[in-house]
Amino acid sequence: MMPLQTKGMTLAFETADFQQLRPLLDNKTVDCVTLVDSYLKRIRQHQRLNAFISVFDDRARQAAAAIDLKIKTGDAGKLAGLVIAIKDLICIKNERTTCGSKILSNFIPPYDAFVIKRLLAEDAILIGKTNMDEFGMGSSTENSHFGAALNPHDMARVPGGSSGGSAVAVADGQCTASLGTDTGGSIRQPASFCGVVGLKPTYGRVSRFGLVAYASSLDQIGPITRSVPDAAMLLQVIAGHDRRDSTSASLPVPDYSSGMKNGVSGLKVGVPREYISESVQLEVSAAIERTIDSLRQGGASIEQTSLPHSKYAIATYYIIATAEASSNLARYDGTRFGYRAGDADDLESMYVKTRSQGFGEEVKRRIMLGTYVLSAGYYDAYYRKAQKVRTLIKQDFDRAFEKFDVLIAPTAPTTAFGLGEKLDDPLTMYLSDIFTVSINLAGVPAISIPVGYDSNKLPIGAQVIAKAYNEATLFHVGYFLEQESSAKMSDSN
Ligand code: GLN
Repeated sequence: MMPLQTKGMTLAFETADFQQLRPLLDNKTVDCVTLVDSYLKRIRQHQRLNAFISVFDDRARQAAAAIDLKIKTGDAGKLAGLVIAIKDLICIKNERTTCGSKILSNFIPPYDAFVIKRLLAEDAILIGKTNMDEFGMGSSTENSHFGAALNPHDMARVPGGSSGGSAVAVADGQCTASLGTDTGGSIRQPASFCGVVGLKPTYGRVSRFGLVAYASSLDQIGPITRSVPDAAMLLQVIAGHDRRDSTSASLPVPDYSSGMKNGVSGLKVGVPREYISESVQLEVSAAIERTIDSLRQGGASIEQTSLPHSKYAIATYYIIATAEASSNLARYDGTRFGYRAGDADDLESMYVKTRSQGFGEEVKRRIMLGTYVLSAGYYDAYYRKAQKVRTLIKQDFDRAFEKFDVLIAPTAPTTAFGLGEKLDDPLTMYLSDIFTVSINLAGVPAISIPVGYDSNKLPIGAQVIAKAYNEATLFHVGYFLEQESSAKMSDSN
């Protein structure tokens, strides 16, 4: 551990969450410039983890100095001094936004995403853009044009994906928090693999304006943090209506901190039987069992339930997501922005060469799959059918939430797998999303909370799922579980 030298005390900035840092910043025990410098140093020292695609040394230092002044004069925002990393498919004005792809490797957006505007308005400090699977397509961050990111718990393993860089940066103490995006599990699964908190908000809770689209009916931006209160605080800032995203809800944003620490007494918890299959790593099932026990001991009632259409989720997701991706990615043709092949003779060959050279293997596979399921003659058999099944999956959740406040399940069937282990077998890779994709298809929110370790000391995540717009309940349960696991960990020390 590398302590940060502050006036009269030392602070482990790599493990502190914002709730611990904020009072120290406020009473000037530590200043933002020192904090930013410590993170920048750590990013450089741990470059091998490859968490970042771009690092904003100058920008972050300048922002820190300006915010230190604001803290002195007492007019700093809610997130003053929160050092945050941003997945590289969320636009920041005048900063390169690559989406982990060669095709956008030189793309500099002329505007800020809605979430970035919100963060800046509250004085968060942007420290850089994080590594990711190209356009969000993957579960290991190995599909990045900029090389794989590595799991800080074991560098021979993947950090999960697609927001792998965002999870690594938080788990390794290279920033205080990060933003990721989740289309089929890309916030929750890397959070689970790296031992941090990851929230996928309800579809419509956070504006997608300025988020480069992968599958527009599923994509959602959310926080990755070292604690549940930090996740709640970040959602508080980034949630809300935006007239530039017509799917963003105009519902009011509740105060997420209220009731968070009330405990789980009286809470009704459902355990979907489809999520406790034999394919789940034994140590993962055992950790979920222990989590369920601690909820029971906390006064929650636990009952098994069923989401009968779960077995169709992966197939349905990979039809809908690829169909939407094939349409969203049509715009990258070398004409208006991004990479353009230099060796083309005419317009047609410019398109073909640009796309052949600019996209990676997995992205091309998805574009082909998506084009196929949308093509005349196959549309009804695949795309339309998948939309119908999506409705059935959503109805499973509607039914479950008539009875339960939350559902609990593993976030992923295993802990972090080895680098290269699933690269040659896309289907096995797709199966690592088996417990996360249904949640995106249903549009409901879910959070991954670290609840233990396997025998290789790799983190295990539990997933808590709630009804649409009930993120407050997720924070409430998440906070309880977080307290329980930290109490257990200090017992075992
Ligand atoms: N792994 C899933 C996919 O490849 C989910 C990715 C995501 O949520 N962006 O599509």
